[in-house]
Amino acid sequence: MKRGILAIAIGAGVLLTGIGSQAPVAIAEEAIATRAPVAVTFIANEGFLLSDGKSKVMVDALFADHDYYDVPSEEVLRRMMGAEPPFDDVDLVLATHHHADHFDAATVASFLAAHPETVFFSTPTAVAEIEKLGEPFVPIAERVRTIDLGYGEGAWVSIRGIRLHVFNSGHSGDLKEFRNYMYAFDVGGQTVFHEGDSGDDPEIFLALGAAIDDVEIAFLHSWFLTGDRGLKIVEEQLEAERAVLMHVPTRFHQETLERLERIRARFPETTYFEASLDGRDFE
Ligand SMILES: [Zn+2]
Repeated sequence: MKRGILAIAIGAGVLLTGIGSQAPVAIAEEAIATRAPVAVTFIANEGFLLSDGKSKVMVDALFADHDYYDVPSEEVLRRMMGAEPPFDDVDLVLATHHHADHFDAATVASFLAAHPETVFFSTPTAVAEIEKLGEPFVPIAERVRTIDLGYGEGAWVSIRGIRLHVFNSGHSGDLKEFRNYMYAFDVGGQTVFHEGDSGDDPEIFLALGAAIDDVEIAFLHSWFLTGDRGLKIVEEQLEAERAVLMHVPTRFHQETLERLERIRARFPETTYFEASLDGRDFE
């Protein structure tokens, strides 16, 4: 069992000092002791809110218009903008990329204006779109963050006490020039992973898996849970404990519900949310 960067650092220490094999056991015990339940609330498409009671992170949840995928309803957007629970005290809002089924610049700007506590992070292109709004960007500018990563590059950043690994996988359809940021971050002592619109290139996941901890909750397209190639990534590179199925077009929603049993035959710990604002606790 790997425990991410900490284990690598301690592993190196073991090699240098010859302490022996006790250190990894101590780390595993510490990880179990600090693990807290993570409440996941589904918004729409790939949009989720995660909370451990201390930190709150939203991913791909602020968008407005799409023909093919569900979008947050007007009522949900009203509750978000009004900071009604569970949309109060949101520390971090992430967008994987700037496509309209994941991100809308004006909606993000409105959310940040209504939530002075929130920091937004995404790709340079998404951030440029918010900047292009002009006037609305000015008061939120210092809470809008990005980092420029090439294809296959990753970096660690820390925002409001949340440790975040950002990795540019390129976009599915082999669009290597199109930045899609996959995120791995810690909530409740659990590693949460969201792949945005990545492809299923094993090379990319090999690089990512070497950088991050075993994943406790993985947010994934269905192809990661139904095919041999995807499952190998989930089980061997991400070492994922549980999966949340996402990015299902509106017209395939019912069919996906009917397929769930077959999906769980391959990956038993699969959650699929039926409706916006449905949620569950991941212990
Ligand atoms: Zn996309």
